[in-house]
Amino acid sequence: MNLKAGYPFSLIKNGLVANYPKLEKDTRTNVVIMGGGISGALTAHRLMQKGIDCIIVDARSIGLGSTCASTSLLQYEIDIPLYKLAALIGEKAAVRSYSLCREAIDKLYLLADKIGFTDIQKKKSLYYAAAKKDVEGLKKEFAARKKHGFKVQYLEEETVFEKSGMYAPAAILSADGAQTNAYMFTHSLHQYNIKKGLEVYDRTAIHTIKHSSRGVELLTENGYWIKARKLVYATGYEVVNYIDKPVVKLQSTYAAISEILSLERPYWKNDMLLWNTARPYLYMRTTPDNRILIGGRDEDFYSPKKRDDLIASKTKKLVADFKKVFPHINFISEFSWTGTFGSTKDGLPFIGTYKKLPNSYFALGFGGNGITFSLIGAEIIADLVNGKKNPDAAIFSFDRA
Ligand SMILES: Cc1cc2nc3c(=O)[nH]c(=O)nc-3n(C[C@H](O)[C@H](O)[C@H](O)COP(=O)(O)OP(=O)(O)OC[C@H]3O[C@@H](n4cnc5c(N)ncnc54)[C@H](O)[C@@H]3O)c2cc1C
Repeated sequence: MNLKAGYPFSLIKNGLVANYPKLEKDTRTNVVIMGGGISGALTAHRLMQKGIDCIIVDARSIGLGSTCASTSLLQYEIDIPLYKLAALIGEKAAVRSYSLCREAIDKLYLLADKIGFTDIQKKKSLYYAAAKKDVEGLKKEFAARKKHGFKVQYLEEETVFEKSGMYAPAAILSADGAQTNAYMFTHSLHQYNIKKGLEVYDRTAIHTIKHSSRGVELLTENGYWIKARKLVYATGYEVVNYIDKPVVKLQSTYAAISEILSLERPYWKNDMLLWNTARPYLYMRTTPDNRILIGGRDEDFYSPKKRDDLIASKTKKLVADFKKVFPHINFISEFSWTGTFGSTKDGLPFIGTYKKLPNSYFALGFGGNGITFSLIGAEIIADLVNGKKNPDAAIFSFDRA
């Protein structure tokens, strides 16, 4: 599958960070993780922490799936507002999903600290009404979050400007958000765990998979066998090649990054993550190297050709969107890119077992919160591999599809 095109900034800025070998022998392990992006990296880390041997195999060079295209906002707010999610899946599960994402941000922050990865910053997050008609929904969302103890503040029009320096009819200011660099985080995790015995192979595509009650056998494109007790599918959106339930709708999204700005920081008050109630939504953040990153303008299709043909026009539209909010900032786009992403009906990921494929687990962080979902997936899967029940597994299970 073609996952991205253009010039993803993480890749441009950091390039090929580390080399990993190809798998060139038959091998046996406890758990094999297929996919070495952020989901595979977090899952391997969690398994290693629990003392479970594992190896990672990835068809691409490490990180060159969706992970390098990510704009890496870490938000607990799922694509579906809490009050709507509660109506869809029940209040308890909805609140738990939001809480797990909020905890995931802290856990990612602590994990980065532990492995010595520094490109992660805590940020407040401002969810603003894109139009007056969205204010009612925003009020409902604020009430739902407040009721369940999330650190939020409701901002009327005048206070939106005071707190952020931009105009909007209303907004919710959240205390808990962060941003990172998913591509570099992934490499840092791999490097940390390789020193502890993890084996990571890239340019090693899995061609055939045999599931049985005894375990799994994977045949690489180069003709080597991997035998394992368990398999974790951390394949990102390419999972559609392996499951027959239509769990994810593939779409296309766009992002652009400015040239380095000579303006004094912060470019807007409090240097917050900004995103709005429009669907598709517009989002903006700054980077440690004095740029502004914007994204959105999603299209409802998966067609690499159509998707890629639109990069230039989508970039123009994103820049125009930005200028409407911050007319005084001269955003000159230096790099822009596009990527495939996937959304689910309830905005939640699919994590756990899939009945037709025994001895395997799925770590599928679909949607705008892919990275926080990857962390949640890693924790649930480590429990399941260990034969432990995880109290949150039902929320994300395939049974709801
Ligand atoms: C433009 C864009 C912006 C985004 N912004 C954000 C954001 O701000 N915040 C956020 O949380 N999320 C964001 N996301 C989503 C986030 O990037 C993804 O959820 C995340 O990167 C998925 O990571 P992954 O490891 O699951 O998948 P991937 O990074 O795609 O890794 C899966 C790997 O599996 C490998 N694989 C697949 N099949 C095989 C096979 N047969 N054999 C061997 N290997 C195989 C692939 O080669 C691939 O490298 C964004 C996505 C895009 C495209």
